[in-house]
This record gives sequence, C-alpha cells and structure tokens, in this order.
Amino acid sequence: MDSRHWIDGAWVTGTDRFASLNPADGSVVGHAAEGGRAEAEAAIAAAHAAFNRPDWAQNPRLRQSILLGWADRLDAQAEDLARLLTLENGKAIAQSRGEIAGAISEIRYYGGLARHVPGHVLEVEPGVLSTMLREPAGVAALIIPWNAPAVLLARAIGPALACGCTVVVKPAAQTTLLTAAFLRALSEVPGLPRGVCNMVSETGHAAAARLVDSPLVDVVSFTGSTATGKRIMVAAADTMKKLSLELGGKSCCVVFPDVDPAETAARIATAATIISGQQCTAARRVLVHASAFDAMKTHLRAALAAMTVGNGLDPAIRMGPLIDRPARDQVQTQVERAFDSCNEVLLRGGVPPDAPAAASFLTPSLVVHDDPSAFFCQDEIFGPFVVLERFETEAEAVAKANNTVFGLSASVWTRDGARALRMARALRNGTVWINDHNRLFAEAETGGYRQSGLGRLHGYDAFADFTELKHVCQTVGTIG
Ligand code: NAD
Repeated sequence: MDSRHWIDGAWVTGTDRFASLNPADGSVVGHAAEGGRAEAEAAIAAAHAAFNRPDWAQNPRLRQSILLGWADRLDAQAEDLARLLTLENGKAIAQSRGEIAGAISEIRYYGGLARHVPGHVLEVEPGVLSTMLREPAGVAALIIPWNAPAVLLARAIGPALACGCTVVVKPAAQTTLLTAAFLRALSEVPGLPRGVCNMVSETGHAAAARLVDSPLVDVVSFTGSTATGKRIMVAAADTMKKLSLELGGKSCCVVFPDVDPAETAARIATAATIISGQQCTAARRVLVHASAFDAMKTHLRAALAAMTVGNGLDPAIRMGPLIDRPARDQVQTQVERAFDSCNEVLLRGGVPPDAPAAASFLTPSLVVHDDPSAFFCQDEIFGPFVVLERFETEAEAVAKANNTVFGLSASVWTRDGARALRMARALRNGTVWINDHNRLFAEAETGGYRQSGLGRLHGYDAFADFTELKHVCQTVGTIG
C-alpha cells in the first residue's frame, strides 16, 4: 500500500518515500511520500485559495453533505481501516474497531453541526443593531499524532471543516497510511471543492514547522507532547495564530475503600494499558485509601500481570506493541530508572522473551511509591507503567493528585455520590470520570488544564478554536 501528498485536489508523489513499519514484527506495511517545506507551501497556498472562494466557507449545506458523505464512505470500509490501524499502530483490533467507529461518529456529529454555527444579534441602543457573526477563521493546520490517528484526526478536522475552514493535515510519520486512507475517502466525495483539504506527509518536521510559522495559516491544532506544544507556541507567536493544543497528561485514579477492589483493579488495569499505555488519558498514578491499599496491591498486580501481550490482529490479545523501537527503548529506560528508586517493585515488565527481534513489545510494570515528586510520578511515561500511592484523607488525595504540571484527566472510584462530585470539583483536570476511565464522546468537550493544553476539542466548544466572532454594527433607525 502506498500513500501520496494531497495538494489542491491531486494526489501527488515526490522523488522520495519512506516505509511505514508494523511494530508487531518490523514488516513493511507500505510506503508514503516524503515531503518537507516545499510541499507544505504548496498545500498552504491551495488551502488559502480555497478559503477565499465562497463555495466552501459560505456554504454550510455543502459542508454538511460532504461530511456526511465522507462518514458513509468510511463506514463502508470500516473493517479494512481497523485492520490498517492495527497494522500501522499495533493496537489490539478491538480497540481499532472502536476507534474507527468513534471517528465516523464524530464526523457525523460535526456534519450535523455544520448547519448550525450561530452568532447573535443585540439591540444595543434604539435603532442600533450589533450583529455578532461567527465566521471560519481561515486556513487550519492539523498536526495529528500516531496513537489514535483516526479519532484524533476526526475531532480536529470535523469542527474545522464544519465551520468553513480549509485545512492542511500533517499526519505522524508512523501512521501516515491510515490518515491517507481516511482522506482518500474524503477526496472521493462528489462536490468537494479542490484545495479545501490537503495532506502533506514527512518523517522530519520541516513541513510541520512551516505550517506553524506561515503567515497564510490562521489556526494550528496540535495533538502531541507538551514539549512540542511549547515549541509550537513560541514559533506561532510571530504570526499570532489561534492555537488548539492537546498535550500530555499524567492521569490519576483516586480509589476509596467502598468499591470492590478486584473489579476496580481490573478496570484500572485496562485503563492503564489502553494502546499499550500510549493514550494521553491512560491511568498512570493510582491513589488508594490506606485501608484498601494491600487489597489493591494484590489485585492490580494480578490484573496487569494477566494482560495478554502480542500481535494486535490476534483477537485474544489485549495489548499490542509500542509504536516503534525508539519509543519502546525510551519507555523501558524510564521504567528501569523508576525500578531503581521506587519504594517497591510489584511487577517488573520487560521485553517478552519470545518477541520477534524487530518488534517493540513491552509488558506492564507496577511500582509502589510515597513521594509524588519522584520523576516517575511527575513525568509522562508513554507506555504501560503504573505507580501505586497511598492516602489517608480526601484532602491528602486531592493534594497528591494535583501535585503535577498536567491537568488532562483523572478518575474517582467510590459508591458515595456526594464524595465523587466533591472530589471531581477539587481535581484540576479537563475531564474527571466517576467509576470509569478513558470514556470520550464526540458531544463532550475535552482538553487540558495547565500544561496539558489550550482550547477544547469535541463538542460545540471546539468551534471556538476554528472561528472568529465578527461585530457588524449598523444604525437602522426607529419607526415613529
Ligand atoms: P510529539 O510531541 O513528538 O509530536 C510529534 C508531531 O509533532 C509530529 O507530527 C512532528 O512532525 C511534529 N513536530 C515536531 N516538532 C515540531 C515543531 N517544532 N513544529 C511543529 N511540529 C512539530 O508527540 P507524539 O510522541 O507524536 O505523541 C505523543 C504525545 O501526544 C503524548 O505526550 C500524549 O500525551 C500526547 N497526546 C495528547 C492528546 C490529548 O488529547 N491531549 C491525545 C493524544 C496524544
């Protein structure tokens, strides 16, 4: 399978291409066109020209029919797309099927909203009307990561196209083929004006960097690490872009003693190992009330040790490989450093002895620690690694959970409804789940507090990042 750049309505290739590898065995899934600054410039120019024509930015009915037509085409290929997602990313096939379904649902949601981007009108004085017109912001650059490339593409491109922006998509190198397959289906919808959506692929960052500093790009929507998000903020300052930044996290689960420890541990183990721990919201720290601590140690260790690790295409597998060898080696180094300084190692993960030499598997690890300032309680370790910590009071749990620069998500596990809401209010995170973890919906805004990001995606508020509000003031006079 091959993929190309999509620029101004044409799928074009350059002289160079790069291989997309299956992290389960190192085999070649296909090849993608290698791009850089020149391809980014061409894509930006096409998106800019398309934005300046009225046939897209001022045509909500067309935008709706394109988005709904795209969703129908994706639906017809859903199983092939899920398989491709597992081949490129490694995740368990059930997770890939869920992600493809979620992405299609999200595109339909924004297809519906495309015809409802309202402003408002105020009568400010007798005979003076102020119209607040919500307009598309312009050209949006969408930099999409590899961990959930389908749904994270959908949640950015959905609101951007629905409100009338034109876009340039820059996929992660590791999952370029999946992004290209999604956009190929969009390119086949009759009536899509050329240049409205463009894609440039690359292994380096030259195209991405140009998207961030080009004066013709109005919005950057980036999902990725906090370190890269900060670099983007600096580089975007000169041209004063609108920024939507969905960044890293260190999600905390706070467990009270009134829940069933075995059931809760099993669900937290699933939340920690989703996409092999490579989800921004994955459970990373588990704070447990002292009276339930020993039970949770036993059950969480057992649940993580029982996780089946292997090729994600095997339906019996719950955890696939990490995205690639450099990522696996980096996580393994961080985890081994944590083993050296934590209070207790409960489960020592590592490379499975029977793994193919070119694969990037890593089994889960669990440690106990009582100092939240340790690097492994503070830094995002993007893999299957969990820290168990103890608390005595609600206040101590909140203080420990909020002792982080991140603020993406957390969960509270208790049967006491008032306590659950009290805790949810006190935890400084964009999302708090009660007796659940990792549930995200097209309708419900998500985003980060503090260094987990800026802005919101999903839901209606996602429009804010892709629109401008224009004040049109008119004196119309009065009658009589
Ligand atoms: P990353 O920060 O390495 O981002 C890689 C992407 O950034 C690539 O597309 C690359 O081309 C681009 N890039 C790199 N340098 C750039 C620059 N100077 N200017 C513009 N673009 C540049 O992240 P990753 O490793 O691909 O993804 C994992 C991270 O993503 C984790 O931190 C995870 O928590 C985060 N994430 C966050 C969310 C969320 O919703 N908050 C969702 C998924 C992933």
